[in-house]
Amino acid sequence: MYPLSSKFEQQAARNLPSLRVYGCNRAIASNNGFMRILISNDDGIYAPGVRVLANTLHGAGHAVTVVCPDRERSATGHALTMHKPLRAEPAVEGFFAPGLTAWAVTGTPSDSVKLGLDAIVDGRPDLVVSGINRGPNLGSDVLYSGTVSAAMEGALEGIASIAVSLASHKSLDFQPAADFIARLVAGLEPEPLEAPFLLNVNVPPLPTGELVGVRVCRLGMRRYRDLFERRVDPRGGAYYWLAGEVIEEEAAPDSDVAAIRAGCIALTPLHANLTYEPALAVLRGRNWEKFLASTLG
Ligand code: MN
Repeated sequence: MYPLSSKFEQQAARNLPSLRVYGCNRAIASNNGFMRILISNDDGIYAPGVRVLANTLHGAGHAVTVVCPDRERSATGHALTMHKPLRAEPAVEGFFAPGLTAWAVTGTPSDSVKLGLDAIVDGRPDLVVSGINRGPNLGSDVLYSGTVSAAMEGALEGIASIAVSLASHKSLDFQPAADFIARLVAGLEPEPLEAPFLLNVNVPPLPTGELVGVRVCRLGMRRYRDLFERRVDPRGGAYYWLAGEVIEEEAAPDSDVAAIRAGCIALTPLHANLTYEPALAVLRGRNWEKFLASTLG
C-alpha cells in the first residue's frame, strides 16, 4: 500500500504488532477493516498536514470526511462557539483527492468534530483522526492543543480517536507521519477497555527510513521561557505578544518528550479524566466537617 523501509517495518513489527483501541469493533467486524473516518485539525482546512493525512487515508480505501476550521485555530484548546451560529462550506475543489468530502467550518476544532458527528457525517464514524499538526503536541502542550482537543471530542463521544502531530514547525514533509497513521489504522483491533481514550501520536521530522522506532509513552513536561514579549505601539501604548521557547530540560525516559528527542514516534494514550489519584487519599484524610464548622463559626 505505502512502501516503508525494511528497517522501519522490522521495528514496527517488533514494537507495534497491532493497536487495540476501544470502540472500533463494528468496523473491523463488518467492513474488512475499512473504516468511516472523520478527520479534523486545528491548522485550518487548507493546511498541508490535513491534506496529506486525508488523501493518504482515502487512498488506503477508507471513507474519509474532513471537517475542519476554515482558518488556523491552533492553541484554542477545547473551546466551543456558543454565542454565534456556525456555518459549514464545502472545501474548494481540487485541494483534496476526488471522492473525498471536505467541509470548512467557521468555528474551533471541537466545534468541527461536534458538528461533523452531529450534522455532517451520515451515521457514526468508526474513527476520528485529528492532524497532522504542524509542530509537536507533547507534555503539557496537550492542554492547549486544538489538535488533541478535536480528537478528545471524538473520545468523549465514545469513538476511537487519534491525534497526530509532526514534531517540527519547519518540516513540511507530512507523508511519513501519514503513512504511519495509515499503518496504525490498518492494524486497529477491538479493545475491551472500560473507557474510550485518544491516542496522541507525535512523529519526529525524519524520512520514514530514518525513524528510530515506536515508543508507548507518558506525557512529559514542556516548559517555556520568556512567555510574553512587551512591545510599544505607534501611539505609545504597550502590548504583549506570546512568544516563548521550550526549555530543554531532562525528560523522563518513558515520556513523549524523550521519545521524540530519540527520533522515535511517541504514542501516548490520553483520557479526559484529569483527577489526580494520589491526592484523593491526602484530601480525604482531612476532617472536612470540622473544617467547615470552624469556617462557619
Ligand atoms: Mn496547530
